[in-house]
Amino acid sequence: MTIRFITLLFLLSAGMTAAHAGNAWSQVRNPLVGQPEVIGSYANGCIAGAVALPLVGDGYQVMRASRNRYYGHPLLIRFIEQQGQQAAAGGSRLLIGDLGQPRGGPMPNGHRSHQSGLDVDVWFLQQPRDRILSRADTEQVNMRSVVRAADGALNLSRWSPHYRDALKFAAQSPYVERIFVNAIIKQALCESETDRSWLHKLRPWWGHDAHFHVRLACPSDSAQCKSQNPIPLGDGCDADLGNWVRDIVQAARSPKPYRKPKPPSVENLPAACQFVLSNAAQATP
Ligand SMILES: [Zn+2]
Repeated sequence: MTIRFITLLFLLSAGMTAAHAGNAWSQVRNPLVGQPEVIGSYANGCIAGAVALPLVGDGYQVMRASRNRYYGHPLLIRFIEQQGQQAAAGGSRLLIGDLGQPRGGPMPNGHRSHQSGLDVDVWFLQQPRDRILSRADTEQVNMRSVVRAADGALNLSRWSPHYRDALKFAAQSPYVERIFVNAIIKQALCESETDRSWLHKLRPWWGHDAHFHVRLACPSDSAQCKSQNPIPLGDGCDADLGNWVRDIVQAARSPKPYRKPKPPSVENLPAACQFVLSNAAQATP
Protein backbone atom coordinates (compact mmCIF):
# COMPACT_ATOMS: atom_id res chain seq x y z
CA MET A 1 0.00 0.00 0.00
CA THR A 2 1.24 3.43 -0.79
CA ILE A 3 1.56 6.03 1.92
CA ARG A 4 -1.07 8.11 0.18
CA PHE A 5 -3.54 5.24 0.19
CA ILE A 6 -2.90 4.51 3.86
CA THR A 7 -3.39 8.19 4.65
CA LEU A 8 -6.65 8.13 2.74
CA LEU A 9 -7.81 5.09 4.68
CA PHE A 10 -6.91 6.77 7.94
CA LEU A 11 -8.79 9.91 6.99
CA LEU A 12 -11.82 7.89 5.92
CA SER A 13 -11.93 5.90 9.13
CA ALA A 14 -11.38 9.04 11.23
CA GLY A 15 -14.23 10.70 9.36
CA MET A 16 -16.49 7.71 9.90
CA THR A 17 -15.66 7.61 13.58
CA ALA A 18 -16.55 11.27 13.89
CA ALA A 19 -19.84 10.69 12.08
CA HIS A 20 -20.79 7.83 14.40
CA ALA A 21 -19.25 9.20 17.54
CA GLY A 22 -22.08 11.53 18.54
CA ASN A 23 -20.78 13.52 21.46
CA ALA A 24 -18.99 12.75 24.71
CA TRP A 25 -22.31 12.42 26.55
CA SER A 26 -23.55 9.70 24.24
CA GLN A 27 -20.30 7.76 24.70
CA VAL A 28 -20.55 7.38 28.47
CA ARG A 29 -21.90 3.92 29.16
CA ASN A 30 -22.78 4.22 32.85
CA PRO A 31 -24.30 6.70 35.29
CA LEU A 32 -22.22 8.61 37.80
CA VAL A 33 -22.83 6.74 41.04
CA GLY A 34 -24.09 8.70 44.02
CA GLN A 35 -26.91 10.86 45.27
CA PRO A 36 -29.35 11.63 42.47
CA GLU A 37 -28.87 15.25 41.46
CA VAL A 38 -30.38 17.05 38.50
CA ILE A 39 -28.27 19.92 37.16
CA GLY A 40 -29.59 22.54 34.77
CA SER A 41 -32.67 22.45 32.58
CA TYR A 42 -34.48 19.86 30.48
CA ALA A 43 -32.83 21.12 27.29
CA ASN A 44 -29.45 22.10 28.77
CA GLY A 45 -28.47 19.92 31.68
CA CYS A 46 -27.30 16.59 33.04
CA ILE A 47 -27.82 14.20 35.93
CA ALA A 48 -25.69 12.46 38.53
CA GLY A 49 -26.95 9.32 40.23
CA ALA A 50 -29.30 8.30 37.42
CA VAL A 51 -30.53 4.71 37.42
CA ALA A 52 -31.40 2.33 34.59
CA LEU A 53 -35.00 1.41 33.95
CA PRO A 54 -35.18 -2.43 33.82
CA LEU A 55 -35.92 -3.26 30.16
CA VAL A 56 -39.05 -5.25 31.00
CA GLY A 57 -41.34 -4.75 33.97
CA ASP A 58 -44.95 -5.26 34.96
CA GLY A 59 -46.97 -3.56 32.23
CA TYR A 60 -44.14 -2.02 30.24
CA GLN A 61 -41.22 -2.75 27.93
CA VAL A 62 -38.36 -0.53 26.77
CA MET A 63 -38.03 0.04 23.01
CA ARG A 64 -34.78 0.74 21.11
CA ALA A 65 -32.60 -0.27 24.06
CA SER A 66 -29.60 -0.26 21.72
CA ARG A 67 -29.62 3.54 21.98
CA ASN A 68 -28.76 3.30 25.69
CA ARG A 69 -31.26 6.00 26.57
CA TYR A 70 -33.12 4.28 29.37
CA TYR A 71 -31.66 6.13 32.34
CA GLY A 72 -33.32 8.68 34.55
CA HIS A 73 -33.83 10.13 37.99
CA PRO A 74 -35.15 7.49 40.44
CA LEU A 75 -38.44 9.42 40.54
CA LEU A 76 -38.79 8.97 36.78
CA ILE A 77 -38.07 5.26 37.04
CA ARG A 78 -40.68 4.89 39.79
CA PHE A 79 -43.18 6.91 37.76
CA ILE A 80 -42.74 4.60 34.73
CA GLU A 81 -43.09 1.49 36.88
CA GLN A 82 -46.33 2.85 38.34
CA GLN A 83 -47.57 3.79 34.89
CA GLY A 84 -46.80 0.21 33.83
CA GLN A 85 -48.78 -1.19 36.74
CA GLN A 86 -51.73 0.96 35.74
CA ALA A 87 -51.53 -0.36 32.17
CA ALA A 88 -51.21 -3.93 33.41
CA ALA A 89 -54.34 -3.54 35.53
CA GLY A 90 -56.15 -2.61 32.31
CA GLY A 91 -54.72 -5.63 30.46
CA SER A 92 -52.02 -3.83 28.48
CA ARG A 93 -48.30 -3.29 28.31
CA LEU A 94 -46.77 0.11 27.54
CA LEU A 95 -43.93 0.59 25.10
CA ILE A 96 -41.39 3.00 26.53
CA GLY A 97 -39.29 5.18 24.23
CA ASP A 98 -36.32 7.33 25.17
CA LEU A 99 -35.59 8.50 28.67
CA GLY A 100 -32.06 9.96 28.88
CA GLN A 101 -28.43 8.97 28.54
CA PRO A 102 -26.62 7.49 31.57
CA ARG A 103 -25.46 10.93 32.68
CA GLY A 104 -28.04 12.89 30.70
CA GLY A 105 -26.65 15.70 28.60
CA PRO A 106 -27.30 16.58 24.96
CA MET A 107 -28.03 13.76 22.54
CA PRO A 108 -26.41 13.86 19.11
CA ASN A 109 -29.80 13.18 17.50
CA GLY A 110 -33.47 12.81 18.24
CA HIS A 111 -34.27 15.30 20.99
CA ARG A 112 -33.45 18.75 22.26
CA SER A 113 -34.58 17.98 25.78
CA HIS A 114 -34.37 14.61 27.62
CA GLN A 115 -31.09 15.94 29.10
CA SER A 116 -31.75 15.94 32.84
CA GLY A 117 -33.23 12.52 33.59
CA LEU A 118 -36.78 13.84 33.97
CA ASP A 119 -38.25 13.23 30.48
CA VAL A 120 -39.68 10.04 29.00
CA ASP A 121 -41.47 9.22 25.76
CA VAL A 122 -44.33 6.74 26.01
CA TRP A 123 -45.70 5.20 22.83
CA PHE A 124 -49.43 5.35 22.22
CA LEU A 125 -49.25 1.89 20.67
CA GLN A 126 -49.53 -0.72 23.41
CA GLN A 127 -49.24 -4.48 23.62
CA PRO A 128 -51.41 -6.98 25.43
CA ARG A 129 -50.18 -7.35 29.00
CA ASP A 130 -48.89 -10.90 28.50
CA ARG A 131 -47.02 -10.20 25.29
CA ILE A 132 -43.32 -9.39 25.52
CA LEU A 133 -41.67 -8.37 22.27
CA SER A 134 -38.42 -10.02 21.19
CA ARG A 135 -35.34 -7.84 21.48
CA ALA A 136 -35.27 -7.62 17.66
CA ASP A 137 -38.88 -6.44 17.58
CA THR A 138 -38.18 -3.75 20.16
CA GLU A 139 -35.64 -2.37 17.69
CA GLN A 140 -37.86 -2.70 14.62
CA VAL A 141 -41.55 -2.27 15.43
CA ASN A 142 -42.62 1.14 14.18
CA MET A 143 -44.52 3.84 15.97
CA ARG A 144 -47.72 4.86 14.27
CA SER A 145 -49.57 8.11 14.32
CA VAL A 146 -52.98 8.19 15.98
CA VAL A 147 -54.11 11.35 14.18
CA ARG A 148 -55.20 12.28 10.68
CA ALA A 149 -53.28 15.53 10.68
CA ALA A 150 -54.64 16.92 7.40
CA ASP A 151 -58.19 16.48 8.75
CA GLY A 152 -57.40 17.80 12.21
CA ALA A 153 -58.95 14.69 13.75
CA LEU A 154 -58.05 11.59 15.71
CA ASN A 155 -57.61 8.46 13.64
CA LEU A 156 -60.34 6.49 15.35
CA SER A 157 -59.25 3.20 13.81
CA ARG A 158 -55.98 3.59 15.70
CA TRP A 159 -57.11 5.33 18.85
CA SER A 160 -57.97 3.40 22.01
CA PRO A 161 -59.51 4.34 25.34
CA HIS A 162 -56.40 2.74 26.86
CA TYR A 163 -54.33 5.63 25.46
CA ARG A 164 -56.61 8.15 27.14
CA ASP A 165 -56.33 6.18 30.38
CA ALA A 166 -52.51 6.25 30.16
CA LEU A 167 -52.54 10.03 29.56
CA LYS A 168 -54.92 10.65 32.44
CA PHE A 169 -52.92 8.47 34.82
CA ALA A 170 -49.73 10.32 33.90
CA ALA A 171 -51.34 13.76 34.17
CA GLN A 172 -52.66 12.95 37.64
CA SER A 173 -49.23 12.08 39.03
CA PRO A 174 -48.10 14.84 41.38
CA TYR A 175 -44.55 14.41 40.03
CA VAL A 176 -45.57 15.15 36.44
CA GLU A 177 -45.09 18.77 35.47
CA ARG A 178 -46.43 18.59 31.91
CA ILE A 179 -47.08 16.20 29.03
CA PHE A 180 -46.49 17.09 25.39
CA VAL A 181 -49.08 15.74 22.94
CA ASN A 182 -50.12 16.63 19.44
CA ALA A 183 -52.64 19.49 19.61
CA ILE A 184 -55.20 17.39 17.74
CA ILE A 185 -55.14 14.81 20.55
CA LYS A 186 -55.63 17.45 23.20
CA GLN A 187 -58.48 18.98 21.27
CA ALA A 188 -60.24 15.62 20.94
CA LEU A 189 -59.96 15.13 24.71
CA CYS A 190 -61.23 18.66 25.35
CA GLU A 191 -64.34 17.65 23.41
CA SER A 192 -64.86 14.22 24.97
CA GLU A 193 -63.86 14.52 28.63
CA THR A 194 -66.40 15.46 31.27
CA ASP A 195 -63.77 15.67 34.03
CA ARG A 196 -61.37 18.25 32.61
CA SER A 197 -59.37 18.74 35.79
CA TRP A 198 -56.35 16.88 34.36
CA LEU A 199 -56.29 18.41 30.88
CA HIS A 200 -54.22 21.48 31.80
CA LYS A 201 -51.07 19.34 32.03
CA LEU A 202 -51.44 18.28 28.38
CA ARG A 203 -49.46 20.79 26.36
CA PRO A 204 -50.13 21.03 22.60
CA TRP A 205 -47.08 20.51 20.41
CA TRP A 206 -45.92 19.45 16.95
CA GLY A 207 -45.41 15.75 16.30
CA HIS A 208 -46.16 13.73 19.43
CA ASP A 209 -48.89 11.93 17.52
CA ALA A 210 -47.39 8.44 17.95
CA HIS A 211 -46.03 8.95 21.46
CA PHE A 212 -46.53 11.35 24.34
CA HIS A 213 -43.71 12.99 26.24
CA VAL A 214 -43.93 13.08 30.03
CA ARG A 215 -41.86 15.61 31.94
CA LEU A 216 -41.41 15.49 35.70
CA ALA A 217 -40.97 18.59 37.83
CA CYS A 218 -37.60 19.34 39.42
CA PRO A 219 -37.05 17.02 42.41
CA SER A 220 -37.22 19.04 45.63
CA ASP A 221 -33.71 17.98 46.68
CA SER A 222 -32.01 18.98 43.39
CA ALA A 223 -31.08 22.59 44.15
CA GLN A 224 -29.37 23.07 40.77
CA CYS A 225 -32.36 21.86 38.73
CA LYS A 226 -33.83 24.64 36.64
CA SER A 227 -37.63 24.67 36.34
CA GLN A 228 -39.57 25.70 33.28
CA ASN A 229 -42.02 28.60 33.35
CA PRO A 230 -45.26 27.29 34.85
CA ILE A 231 -48.02 26.29 32.46
CA PRO A 232 -50.83 28.84 32.10
CA LEU A 233 -53.89 28.60 34.33
CA GLY A 234 -57.00 26.94 32.98
CA ASP A 235 -57.50 23.67 31.10
CA GLY A 236 -56.02 25.03 27.85
CA CYS A 237 -59.08 24.04 25.80
CA ASP A 238 -59.10 27.48 24.26
CA ALA A 239 -58.43 29.65 21.20
CA ASP A 240 -54.69 29.08 21.46
CA LEU A 241 -55.29 25.33 21.12
CA GLY A 242 -57.47 26.06 18.09
CA ASN A 243 -54.56 27.97 16.53
CA TRP A 244 -52.23 25.06 17.17
CA VAL A 245 -54.60 22.66 15.43
CA ARG A 246 -55.04 25.03 12.50
CA ASP A 247 -51.25 25.32 12.06
CA ILE A 248 -50.79 21.55 12.23
CA VAL A 249 -53.55 20.94 9.66
CA GLN A 250 -52.02 23.56 7.37
CA ALA A 251 -48.55 22.08 7.70
CA ALA A 252 -49.91 18.60 6.90
CA ARG A 253 -51.68 19.86 3.78
CA SER A 254 -48.67 21.71 2.39
CA PRO A 255 -45.61 20.06 3.89
CA LYS A 256 -42.29 21.85 3.70
CA PRO A 257 -39.14 19.90 2.83
CA TYR A 258 -37.72 18.24 5.92
CA ARG A 259 -34.71 20.00 7.37
CA LYS A 260 -32.72 18.02 9.88
CA PRO A 261 -32.57 20.02 13.12
CA LYS A 262 -29.16 20.89 14.49
CA PRO A 263 -28.20 18.80 17.52
CA PRO A 264 -28.39 20.67 20.83
CA SER A 265 -25.25 22.46 21.93
CA VAL A 266 -22.78 20.88 24.32
CA GLU A 267 -21.10 24.25 24.86
CA ASN A 268 -23.39 26.02 27.30
CA LEU A 269 -23.97 23.30 29.86
CA PRO A 270 -23.76 24.27 33.54
CA ALA A 271 -20.18 23.97 34.81
CA ALA A 272 -21.13 21.20 37.27
CA CYS A 273 -22.02 18.98 34.30
CA GLN A 274 -18.36 18.85 33.30
CA PHE A 275 -17.64 17.09 36.58
CA VAL A 276 -20.55 14.69 36.02
CA LEU A 277 -19.21 13.85 32.56
CA SER A 278 -15.55 13.41 33.39
CA ASN A 279 -15.78 11.73 36.80
CA ALA A 280 -14.50 8.21 36.42
CA ALA A 281 -16.67 6.58 39.10
CA GLN A 282 -19.05 4.32 37.22
CA ALA A 283 -21.64 1.79 38.14
CA THR A 284 -20.74 -1.79 37.30
CA PRO A 285 -22.35 -2.47 33.94
ZN1 LIG B 1 -39.71 13.31 24.10
